[in-house]
Amino acid sequence: MADLYEMLGVAREASADEIKKAYRKIARELHPDINPDPAVQDKFKEVTAAYEVLSDTQKRQQYDMGGQGFGGGQGFGGFSDIMDAFFGGGGNRGPRARMRQGQDALIRVQVTLAEACFGTDRELTIENAVVCPTCTGSGCAKGTSPSMCQVCKGRGETQQIQKSFLGQVMTSRACGTCSGFGSVIQEPCRECDGEGRVRARQNIPVKIPAGVETGNRMQLAGRGEVGAGGGPAGDLYVEIVEEEHEFLVRDGDTLHMEVEITFAAASLGTKISVETLDGQSEIAIKAGTQTGSTIALKGHGMTRLRSNSRGDLIVHIVVMTPTKLSREQEKMLNEFAKSRGEAAGGSTTKGKNQSFLGKFRDSFGR
Ligand SMILES: [Zn+2]
Ligand SMILES: [Zn+2]
Repeated sequence: MADLYEMLGVAREASADEIKKAYRKIARELHPDINPDPAVQDKFKEVTAAYEVLSDTQKRQQYDMGGQGFGGGQGFGGFSDIMDAFFGGGGNRGPRARMRQGQDALIRVQVTLAEACFGTDRELTIENAVVCPTCTGSGCAKGTSPSMCQVCKGRGETQQIQKSFLGQVMTSRACGTCSGFGSVIQEPCRECDGEGRVRARQNIPVKIPAGVETGNRMQLAGRGEVGAGGGPAGDLYVEIVEEEHEFLVRDGDTLHMEVEITFAAASLGTKISVETLDGQSEIAIKAGTQTGSTIALKGHGMTRLRSNSRGDLIVHIVVMTPTKLSREQEKMLNEFAKSRGEAAGGSTTKGKNQSFLGKFRDSFGR
């Protein structure tokens, strides 16, 4: 479906004045009085309909919201009626129903990693199109009903005979007076302007299952927008957006975390307590643990969707090299290094240290 802004050749953020100017310019070229070619007239109608939406602050806003959404949700406000007017109601014969299928709606919901893992219950508040309580969807003022369209005599379409190189061709298009409905609402309901539906805030309880992740969509049948004329509602899609966790990183069912341990703990081995989605968990650090080694905590990862099983939590160990050493500690580390036959590095002079670093850098070509 063509973008209304594109039709008018303006940017999405164009001002009302820019839209008006753009329309005037196109209208001057395409106006039926100037260019009676039917194809051009169709184009003119399309552009005019686009202008009708974009020149109306409220309709424009609805279009913007719907247009950025999904599932072709064009919001409401008679937009689909205009679209039908464009295309002359397609190849359909006879009047079209006032009652229309409603659009789907999309709402995004943020969940924490823990909520994504264990599932949660939410109550979502959404602004939605609901059946107009005053006219219960008919669009007519109380005690009135639509009357037959006098122009098309209730057929919803008008016929034209055109001459072409094939001879006379009869074409039919949606009746402009009744927009193809075959009937006209003489006295529209004041609350919904004859649309049969109004906007209302709704609270919808949603059960978010364990194991969801960003991009997952839940379909709530019949909780989308009610159609024009009180038509059946579309579906509501709830899309999951998972918040970033402070220290846990998700990769499918697997979680990763980094834990820093001291040089001494890495050398001697120890038991440490780490925070997981399930609370504190104790892990054993083996003597001689190196930076980059991993420990898997089975079953402490994410829940698999539609399953009770869970992935693993992988703990990545980072051994911290001590930075600020006391003279005493330095001495001890030197003794330690000597005892292993390693070169002493600690209490050397500045000059020596720099030459060592220089060599080190050279060996890497830095
Ligand atoms: Zn109403
Ligand atoms: Zn009509």
